[in-house]
Amino acid sequence: MSESCCGPEVTLDCCESASQAGCCDAAPQLDCCGNQRSEAPQADCCDQEGGDAESVQRGGLTGFADYLLARRETRLALLGAAGVTLTLLASLTLQLPVLVIYAAYTLALLIALWPIARSGLNALRSRRAFNINLLMTIAALGAIAIGEFLEGAVVVILFALGEALEGYTMGRTRASLRSLMTLAPPQALRLRDGGEELVPVAELQIDDRILVRAGDGIPLDGVVLDGHSDINQASLTGESLPRTVGPGDEVYAGTVNGVGGLRLRVTRLAQDSAISRIIRLVEQAQETRARSWRTIDRFARVYTPLAALMALLVATVPPLFLGQPFLNEGDSVGWVYRGLALLVIACPCALVISTPVTVISAINAAARRGVLIKGGIHLEMLGRIRTIAFDKTGTLTANRPGIADLYSLDCTDREVICAECEDVLALAAAVERGSSHPLARAISADAGARNLGDRYATATRVTALAGRGVQGYVDEQLVTLGSHLLFENEHPHPQAMCDMIAESEARGETAVLLCDGERVRGYISLADQPRENAREAIDALHAQGLRSVMLTGDNPQAAGVIAAMVGVRDVRAGLLPEDKLDAIRSLESPGQPVAMVGDGINDTPALSAASLGIAPGGIGSDQALENADVVLMADDLQQLPFAIRLGRRALSTIRNNIALSLAMKATFLVLAVTGGVSLWAAIFADVGMTLVVTLNGMRLLRAR
Ligand code: ADP
Ligand code: MG
Repeated sequence: MSESCCGPEVTLDCCESASQAGCCDAAPQLDCCGNQRSEAPQADCCDQEGGDAESVQRGGLTGFADYLLARRETRLALLGAAGVTLTLLASLTLQLPVLVIYAAYTLALLIALWPIARSGLNALRSRRAFNINLLMTIAALGAIAIGEFLEGAVVVILFALGEALEGYTMGRTRASLRSLMTLAPPQALRLRDGGEELVPVAELQIDDRILVRAGDGIPLDGVVLDGHSDINQASLTGESLPRTVGPGDEVYAGTVNGVGGLRLRVTRLAQDSAISRIIRLVEQAQETRARSWRTIDRFARVYTPLAALMALLVATVPPLFLGQPFLNEGDSVGWVYRGLALLVIACPCALVISTPVTVISAINAAARRGVLIKGGIHLEMLGRIRTIAFDKTGTLTANRPGIADLYSLDCTDREVICAECEDVLALAAAVERGSSHPLARAISADAGARNLGDRYATATRVTALAGRGVQGYVDEQLVTLGSHLLFENEHPHPQAMCDMIAESEARGETAVLLCDGERVRGYISLADQPRENAREAIDALHAQGLRSVMLTGDNPQAAGVIAAMVGVRDVRAGLLPEDKLDAIRSLESPGQPVAMVGDGINDTPALSAASLGIAPGGIGSDQALENADVVLMADDLQQLPFAIRLGRRALSTIRNNIALSLAMKATFLVLAVTGGVSLWAAIFADVGMTLVVTLNGMRLLRAR
């Protein structure tokens, strides 16, 4: 655990890396500083969401004032500040004895120092961690020892207030998400026994019926029973164009109903709604640290004790061995004073906060635009990606395949859909009803539309042949459906059929062949369109300097046609799921990370092998929400260039912040050793720099 554990912003420092004897997860009764929680309920960092949350949420000056007053260490710092001000005024106007003035300053200093010193000592005792609280304590006591009472007090008070400011802005950054996403009304109109009653959403059960009036927020996830309307889903997806819904369509809590009243059947409990899960995921994401964030923490752990050692050397070596003065003499600054200034400068506040504030701002900005980034590490990866691999079916295509051709080997009339051809479709649908593949849905929907849905009993023991097809038993016969590739090896069929299939494939279609257990019966050819916006998205990615690749299990011709339409130049077709994984591995090299965009069903191995797994799945897809590193909530590929841009901006902001803080530290280090800076200027610079990097990071909140 590193610095500033007991400052308010500490959640960043301590609450995540449980492996590091993390204080919040591993030992909930301890705070980050190793204090017993019961002893110091206000002073601990992990309670940030507790008492202070409300003032953080409210924001503004009064919010900040309340935040200050709600925390014991800042109350004491304010008390100290009042003491210093009064003493200063008194010393200027009244003829007070010097000793009284010094005593008053010392008292003010000690009051403000008390919580800082205690947590510094606790950290040392319980975790042998040398943190900035300890640095500050030594600096303050050192200032008393050399008679710099006023400066010492100012340093302690500014430090405490700076920490409070950090904690407050951090809290604000986190809260920026919740305020935007909690649009779901807390109550719903339940329909029961012909009447309607207003009940809290927590009381509603699955399958309850509710009424949502025109213009109202939707309280729970559900399916439309009757009514037609336009739903504004911007709060979830960032997409401002309303979505038209009617009976059978899913709607989500937190979105807003348009002009029509809707009756809904509740499909998820309030706490399981898509929006609740998204908020939970984003909040978890805020806690998982980015890589640079960890590096900084590690750095701070070494740097702080080193700085203390250096300060000690500066304070003692020149006076002891070079005949320099310990204390100030006339105009020349004493070496103990320089050592103390060094201690104050060593405080790595700006450095420590610069990364988390940037990461959290970016993650929240993305969430509001409908891009769910599940952790700082993935945000950084977005900024580093050089190559993007796309799955074809359902990712680059609209995922609404339609039947383009239907053929039975027993076909009697090629001009119409004869009874034999219909039978191929009916048998295929019996198996596909048990599959969730996009092609399967098209086949069973089409069979249903032709009233062929109940010619055969739905297949039993249906198994997917990942990337190749599907099998199931119909009337005790093993029926197989699948790609031409699969059939080439296992199910002999006439050359004439191969020629016909080749023709449809040349048009960009996908053929699904059928074997009824004894012989090949025919094929169904399906055509899909590229997704709307896919071309624009790919062009934008190319403009950003990225390379695009298509990985698909489909045949090379169909893949090539779609690839040409969307502008992907590198096409790898006929891949099984494990081939996709190998393809990802071969595309990746050190410093050249690859992102995989896929729907997460048969792409799971590739998604997890890639440096970054992106699911275009949208709100409805639980699978995507759980498995991918990044989820595009609006199901729109145009969100990709935005996400990449945001990742790059976050990376450069982090780098700038770190460079800025280090440059400032280096300058003041030299100034301190040469006696060119006072204690209070040193702390002022640190608080100022903390503010600068925080504001710089928070600019990402408004990323477009
Ligand atoms: P993609 O990699 O483009 O998402 P898939 O790996 O899902 O494609 O599928 C590859 C091929 O396997 C499909 O083009 C199809 O020929 C065949 N296939 C997979 N699942 C099924 C299914 N349920 N029904 C019919 N064919 C299927
Ligand atoms: Mg797919």
